[in-house]
Order: sequence, then C-alpha cells, then structure tokens
Amino acid sequence: MRITVLAGGVGGARFALGLREAAPDADIAIVANVGDDLWLAGVKVCPDLDSLMYALAGVNDTERGWGRASESERVSAELRAYGVGWPWFTLGDLDLGTHLARTALLRDGATLTEATARLSGRWELGATLLPVTDDEVPTHVVTDTGVIHFEEWWVRTRATARAHRFVQHGAERARVSPAALEAIRGADVVLVAPSNPVVSIGTILGIPGVRDAIAAASAPVVGVSPLIGGRAVRGMAATCLEVIGVEPDAVAVAEHYGARSRGGLLDAWLVAEEDASGLDALRRLGIRADARPLLLTPGGPAAQVARDALALALEAPRA
Ligand code: GDP
Ligand code: CA
Repeated sequence: MRITVLAGGVGGARFALGLREAAPDADIAIVANVGDDLWLAGVKVCPDLDSLMYALAGVNDTERGWGRASESERVSAELRAYGVGWPWFTLGDLDLGTHLARTALLRDGATLTEATARLSGRWELGATLLPVTDDEVPTHVVTDTGVIHFEEWWVRTRATARAHRFVQHGAERARVSPAALEAIRGADVVLVAPSNPVVSIGTILGIPGVRDAIAAASAPVVGVSPLIGGRAVRGMAATCLEVIGVEPDAVAVAEHYGARSRGGLLDAWLVAEEDASGLDALRRLGIRADARPLLLTPGGPAAQVARDALALALEAPRA
C-alpha cells in the first residue's frame, strides 16, 4: 500500500512515527512543508524536513522538541561572537552538520529533493521525505512593525508580534516537485497529518499544482485534527488560525479545509474524543468523521491514531 502524508515538522513527525509503526509494510511518502526554510549564516536550514528526518532516524531531542539529541552549541557561540546569524536562533553543532551538507549538495547543483534524499539515505527512516517544492517559498509574516520571516515571528517574538497575514513569498512562481506530485497521484491513501493548518498544511496546499493533484487523485484523503478540545496540543497553531480568521476548533479547521466532494480537501476527518460533539456538523459539511483519542505519544497511542486514520480512509473511498 502506498501512503502519502502531508506534514509539517513536529506534529507531522509524531504522526509519521505512529504511521510507520502501524503500517510497517506500507510505502510511506511524506510531502513536507518548506515554508519555514531559510538561509542563515550561509547555510540552508529546513526546519520541518529536519524535524521529520531526525525523528524518523531516532536522533531527535525528544525533551526540547526540536533539533538533535546530545547536541552542543560551540559553533553557535562563535557565530554570536562574530554577530553573524540570529542570536535567538540556535544552530546546534550536529544540526549545523546537516545544514552544511545540504548547502554543499545544493551548491553542487542538487535540487532540494535530491539533497534531502542524500541526507536521509544515511538512516533507515522507513519513509521517503519529499519537499513539496524545490523552489524557495519562505513564509513571511506581515506585522505591525514590518514584514519578517516566519521563523523570526515564531521563535523571536513567540508569535506575540501582532500578525495581519501570512505571505508565501514566491509561491506563484513555484512548482510542486515531480516526486511530490507522483506521490500524491500514485497514493492509495492520502493522509493530512495533525500539523499546523496554516503555516504547515496551508503552505503545502498553497504550492501551485498541489490542490489540483489531490483533487484528481484516486486515493481517499483523510485528515487528523491538530486541535483537541479547542486548543493546539503543543505550539501556537491557534494564533496562526486567528490570523486567518478561523476558530481554533476541530470542526472549524475541517470546514476551512473543505469537503472534497464540494471542491475542498477532505473525504474524512478524525477528531479527538473531546470533540465528538462536532461529528454531526462535520457530516453536514459532507465530511465523514470519527472521534478517537488523538494525543500522539511515541510507542503506543501514535500508532493507534495512525491505525484509526487508515481505517477511516479505507471505509471512506471516494464517492
Ligand atoms: P511544526 O512545523 O514543528 O510547528 O509542526 P507541525 O506543523 O507538524 O505541527 C504542529 C501542530 O501539531 C501543533 O500546533 C498542534 O496543533 C499539533 N499537535 C502537536 N502534538 C499533537 C498531538 O499530540 N495530537 C494532535 N492531534 N495534534 C498535535
Ligand atoms: Ca514548521
């Protein structure tokens, strides 16, 4: 079975770990957000691809929630002393190894898809990581005091700088990567990970060609809610939803994605048990739905969440 997942970083990685455990024989492709990517201190940083790669490789820092385990920060301290880079955006030494290797590959002419395959090839990930596009489409945030990169808004201001809107810089000229396109077209099931609906899934869907490919795919499309009981489990997804005028609520997010039968994204939507009261509203929107425990913890519940999403997919073939 070919399973294609649309995913951001940490929420996407937690779900991907569960999926790999739930479907060990499946051919899993992860179409990842690249809107968070940036050039910093001369190297190309891809936060979501790296969160996915480190988590699937089992070398991520599970306590801090990002970066490599057993990390040191000697190079970052030197960069800070030179006043290069962002002092509030730490690049760990092991992590910098990834960015240097990626940058070297890109400078040798590799596409981001090729560079990602080379980096991923070091480990047994059990899934193929595919940047949604090989083009650069940084997410910019329009704030009261100017336009800043998403990572500056997220990490430096902790999403407190008042945001008016998000802009996918360069998206109109970007193209979905051939590998991501094929993964969507050839999938038996398409899953939307419980990732940030705006700056992870929204930015994937904003790449020209992605929505059309999903609409035309023969696979059912099933999403997992990133909101439980009206709040994001971790992170500031609710703030991003507020910026685009969507309630931080499982039903509202599904309505925002839309029913596939009515030109939207979803055939089905898995919500948390806490949100079971929204099932009728979801069905009225034309979206099949089920309510299950949705807290993602490695080694148990995450695999069950993936199994539940797959079960919903298989009972919800395209009309
Ligand atoms: P990022 O790119 O690292 O911000 O990560 P993602 O976009 O992939 O996912 C972030 C979102 O995942 C958070 O804002 C939460 O809404 C969601 N999330 C995190 N942990 C869980 C969990 O345990 N269960 C569910 N259902 N959603 C989660
Ligand atoms: Ca991200």
